[in-house]
Amino acid sequence: MNELNDPVPAALPKVPRLSKSKFLSGLQCHKRLYLEIHQPFLATKPDAATQAMFEMGTAVGELARSRFAGGVLVTAGYRQTEAALAQTAALVKNLAVPAIFEAAFLHGGVLIRADVLERVPSAEGEPGGWRLIEVKSSTKVKDTHLEDLAVQSEVIQGAGLTLVSVGLMHINTSYLYREGAVDLTELFSIQDLSEAVAQRRAEVPGRLAEMTSMLLQAQAPAIEPSQHCHTPHDCAFWDHCTKDKPDRWIHYLPGAKQIVGQLIEQGVTTIDEIPAGTKLSPVQRRVKENVEWTSAKLGTMLTAVQYPVHHLDFETVMLAVPRFSATRPYQALPVQWSNHIQQVTGALSHEEFLHKDVGDPRRMLAESLLESLGEKGSICVYSAYEQSVLEQLAVAIPSLKPALQRIIARLWDLFPIIRDHYYHPAFGGSYSIKSVVRAMVPSLAYDDLAIKEGGHAASQYYRMVFVETDWVERAAIEEALLRYCERDTLAMVELRRALQGKAQKQKD
Ligand code: SF4
Repeated sequence: MNELNDPVPAALPKVPRLSKSKFLSGLQCHKRLYLEIHQPFLATKPDAATQAMFEMGTAVGELARSRFAGGVLVTAGYRQTEAALAQTAALVKNLAVPAIFEAAFLHGGVLIRADVLERVPSAEGEPGGWRLIEVKSSTKVKDTHLEDLAVQSEVIQGAGLTLVSVGLMHINTSYLYREGAVDLTELFSIQDLSEAVAQRRAEVPGRLAEMTSMLLQAQAPAIEPSQHCHTPHDCAFWDHCTKDKPDRWIHYLPGAKQIVGQLIEQGVTTIDEIPAGTKLSPVQRRVKENVEWTSAKLGTMLTAVQYPVHHLDFETVMLAVPRFSATRPYQALPVQWSNHIQQVTGALSHEEFLHKDVGDPRRMLAESLLESLGEKGSICVYSAYEQSVLEQLAVAIPSLKPALQRIIARLWDLFPIIRDHYYHPAFGGSYSIKSVVRAMVPSLAYDDLAIKEGGHAASQYYRMVFVETDWVERAAIEEALLRYCERDTLAMVELRRALQGKAQKQKD
């Protein structure tokens, strides 16, 4: 990436106040922090699914507060810094307040808001102080959480409070919800991370000094986009940083990224420059060869179906806070299916189901599905996901287990057939149904739909059922969901047809 291509700020930058999220951005990449501060307009807006993840995180954070009886929220918003600091100071002094939510502290040019700060009274021989707790909707402790807590600890202690412990509160996926109120002590796990965070904390001042000096430069640092751009989070400047990269940039080689790192070290910049003899996976080899390829066995593989051929796709939601009996946090719950049925004559019909109320969707969904699939014909799916959903349904509804197992026995997965028997350069190494359809049946690419991918479908479903009150809006989401799921199964019908054409051509 030539840094001279980046727009340069009009005047020499001033170092602004940092927040903990900016600090974490700086740990991922100094250029990311620089752009967030000085040229944020270069970022790509988060997509709807990412936005929904943020919203779910906020909702989980609010629920977590219920575990701290008597806790008081600092109501001043994120832009009302002085008011937030003043409210926090008053609550810290008030010994009757057992916990503070969203407490604000400023130290060393860094402003933080702490999810939960719990007062720890002094006991005999033990000094009092505070327990800092960060709340995350994730299911385990990650490295970035330690960094997050380290910068918060540095600021809070720098502001004059004593932290007696530091911990992370996260979702416990082994919690099995039965009925009634959610048991918050079971839903959330709190892990004490005091020791691990103390080690990281020692590094915070040095890292902050490096970031501050970098931010005073007239231009963003010259950092090449690479694997680090996706860990721990996808960087919003990816499109900007990669805009001048060639279509066959080495980073686009699919599969294990270790080989990409090795090739970059050897000076390889495009897929076409990969030296002969490099050990590649079968998919990576196809991408390097970059030519259409049809296996001699494709035709035989495609004929192994029985008519009528059903084409099945599920959409699911994963709720951080379970609502239905005998479910766990983030368990995938099917809420919708689509089935295109193709007769041996070629005649095509379509059936569908979408659960639209706040109740448990599983029984109604399973019963309607069994009726639609009947007892005859193969059931074409794309990936093993549908099988795992059916298996979970069979466990959840024992009375339907035999019928659901008969359905599972009829599944016929198109994904490994394409992966192992056909390749088109336009796949770009991706065998996702979206990439494959775009290459083989462009008229069915998802561009014309209001919902274009599964994450967006899940977030829109949640909105339709649990959030949205306007019936016009609900109806619009319902229609978008139905059309999206329908497209997935119609795509399978047309992919089978297109592949049959390729197999025939090869035979001729
Ligand atoms: S895309 Fe990568 S190189 Fe560019 S700012 Fe983000 S993390 Fe840094």
